[in-house]
Amino acid sequence: MTANARSGRVIAAHGRHFLVDDGESVTECVTRGKKGGVACGDRVRFSLTHPGSGVIEEVEPRFNLLYRSDEFRTKLIAANVDQVLVVVAAVPLFREELLIRCLVACEAAGIPARIVLNKTDLPQTATLADYLKAYEALGYIVRKVSALGDLGSLEADLKGKTSVLAGASGMGKSSLLNRLVPEAHAAVGEISQALDAGRHTTTHARLYPLANGGALIDSPGMQEFGLKHLNPHELMAAFPEIRARLGQCRFHNCRHLKEPGCAVLAAAEGGDILPSRLRAYHSLLKEQKAPL
Ligand code: GDP
Ligand code: ZN
Repeated sequence: MTANARSGRVIAAHGRHFLVDDGESVTECVTRGKKGGVACGDRVRFSLTHPGSGVIEEVEPRFNLLYRSDEFRTKLIAANVDQVLVVVAAVPLFREELLIRCLVACEAAGIPARIVLNKTDLPQTATLADYLKAYEALGYIVRKVSALGDLGSLEADLKGKTSVLAGASGMGKSSLLNRLVPEAHAAVGEISQALDAGRHTTTHARLYPLANGGALIDSPGMQEFGLKHLNPHELMAAFPEIRARLGQCRFHNCRHLKEPGCAVLAAAEGGDILPSRLRAYHSLLKEQKAPL
């Protein structure tokens, strides 16, 4: 490593280009060779090649890493994350499967997740608030907000922490981001960032420092959420209601699909597990490549 290496935090990742903030200025960095493997939120050592440009020499050890994967590759979403806030809303459509995928990714990465129920100003939200009580019973905190109203409680949740904002399109993620980080100027309803000018990548994450301490990471990539990197054991453990019943099935290698004497299926039949969650578990299991 060169003697003049500096330390900073990655505040934007797009393709193989990164913006690194060292507290005084922001440097546009690349990685050496084919290393890749740098995520928004990473703490790195970098050296300057020209004023404003640099090379990342080393990624400091992370305390966690959130990622997703499809058939072809794994994508890093963010590193050193204290919590993930999954924004949901009743309007235009509550996409429960995406919520479940986000929660599963967080459980697997050991990152606390909260649900932010947005658009509480709309009457349609009451039914969803009721439905989400089942998620509160699983241990997830549900914070109810309106991007058009007071966000004091959400700001308190964010204070001093690095949080990832996730959610399906249309849930109000940009509206919340604009309120929480006015200087983000995230275009409501569209992805438009000056940083992307001239680049072909559209999936990128950005970290915004918060006025009260802490940071918010916005990651548009969380719309599609493949979890092929998880093996069946990791998957079962990522569902709190399945995790709680592991070891209670007749067969020690039960996959909780159709097996007789399955404690998970029995709980689902008894109404103690949400049908949508069991369905999501089954469809995630089918996506896995590795056999049990
Ligand atoms: P994103 O796709 O998740 O970034 O969602 P946007 O922030 O673009 O919001 C989608 C639509 O929902 C826009 O028309 C917003 O004005 C609207 N919206 C966002 N938050 C709220 C809210 O709390 N209440 C109401 N009534 N509308 C909202
Ligand atoms: Zn079972």
